[in-house]
Amino acid sequence: MKYETVIGLEVHLQLATQTKVFCGCSTKFGQRPNSQTCPVCLGFPGSLPVLNEEAFYFSIKVALALNCQIQNLIKFDRKNYYYPDLPKNFQISQYDMPLSYNGVVYIAPQGSGERKRVRVKRVHLEEDAGKLVHPERENYSLVDFNRSGVPLLEIVTEPDIASTEEAYDYLVRLKSILKYLKVSDCDMEKGSLRCDANISVRPIGEEALGTKVELKNMNTFKGVRLALEYETKRQIGLAQEGEKIIQETRLWDSEKQITTSMRSKEEAQDYRYFPEPDLVPFVVDNAVIEKIKNSLPELPEAKANRFISEFGLSEYDAGVLTSQIDIADYFEECVKLYPNPKTVANWVTGDIMAQLNARNITMDELDVLPSSLTEILKMIESGVISGKMAKELLLESIETKSRPEDIVKKKDLFQISDTAKLEKMAKAVLKREKKSVRDYKSGKTNALAFLVGQIMRQTKGKANPAIVNEILKKELEG
Ligand code: ADP
Ligand code: ZN
Ligand code: MG
Repeated sequence: MKYETVIGLEVHLQLATQTKVFCGCSTKFGQRPNSQTCPVCLGFPGSLPVLNEEAFYFSIKVALALNCQIQNLIKFDRKNYYYPDLPKNFQISQYDMPLSYNGVVYIAPQGSGERKRVRVKRVHLEEDAGKLVHPERENYSLVDFNRSGVPLLEIVTEPDIASTEEAYDYLVRLKSILKYLKVSDCDMEKGSLRCDANISVRPIGEEALGTKVELKNMNTFKGVRLALEYETKRQIGLAQEGEKIIQETRLWDSEKQITTSMRSKEEAQDYRYFPEPDLVPFVVDNAVIEKIKNSLPELPEAKANRFISEFGLSEYDAGVLTSQIDIADYFEECVKLYPNPKTVANWVTGDIMAQLNARNITMDELDVLPSSLTEILKMIESGVISGKMAKELLLESIETKSRPEDIVKKKDLFQISDTAKLEKMAKAVLKREKKSVRDYKSGKTNALAFLVGQIMRQTKGKANPAIVNEILKKELEG
């Protein structure tokens, strides 16, 4: 029997507000443990939560960008459980009335040429827990409450995702949108973006969903992919043996590259949800929602379409350039300075993005001015430097953080396009390389490349190869 995979993803996103979601403590990452706490986020009896307006607006922004419907009445609930990083013994979350629901994210599975809808079941706002620290080789644990009460947005899909690749595509797309919205740094290493995956298998053709397993502890998109691949094989293996799949939570072990059982899955009733009595439910004015909607930035898909129609880019280039907001912005800045979008697109998707990949950094971290690239492009166009020199120049400009123009001046990199000078050199070479001249005249035309090479070597690559080529040919044939 053949099986297919069914996946639903739950993403937790820390919102980049200045202060926590129900108190005024700072959310700054990496500070001294427990230095950003107060009676509210430490769960002191009698302390009262107050909703952070910015966290709420950020949430609505995300919900609208994911095409969700906004709940008429906003209500928070208590999710009760005990854990040392949860001082109140409950988490303020949203249960039966998430602030938004019924959204959709479009992904474009490779090779299909068609985009696919992944339905978003709900987006709700809650608070993060503290963090346990387990010092190595010690028999105690420490708790840091700086993270306690940081606003967390939970984004849950319907089980619409049909493969590991689609799961990956969804995450990349979602992160791209979230970065456009500037509501989070989406840094998985810092834990600002975390993903749990639910996965089941079923015989192809079967309507009913199989028993799902929840996977946790993946710290990178690659980890999500590996964990899903492993779990797909494990579950199909069990199903083929006629074994039962147990509903449980499993942890991804990135060292051993396996998933292991953590606990049998808890049910909603285990949490004894009930409405949070210290936060009154409230209605959001439609005018407020409209205002937020109008303030949304141009999102990746719309931007890609505009790049195609406005700049005549291919769908592929437009997709690559708009996948990250800072790359798209960089591209547009460059086009303003050098209005040849196709050339700029080639350089940004080629040399610039190769640098990002090689260094594993973001555009922001690469720290190269749009004018650095466009100066180089102008120099190629006017024949000051060759295309090959341009690539080296860009690299050096990135590495030394200096302007390409200054490097060219300092290193005397100007391309030699002076015909008189090159003619003189050509004549000298022809006199010296008699054998190649004979070869050429007897029909071995590749002798020309050798002769061009001689001049290029003599000028340390600075001669304009097209002009050299032309001059030599004229001399040989004339
Ligand atoms: P729970 O009540 O266990 O949290 P939800 O219905 O809230 O379950 O779903 C949690 C996540 O699991 C969602 O992303 C959903 O799409 C996904 N999911 C639900 N059922 C399945 C299934 N049978 N196989 C794979 N994913 C599933
Ligand atoms: Zn606090
Ligand atoms: Mg759930």
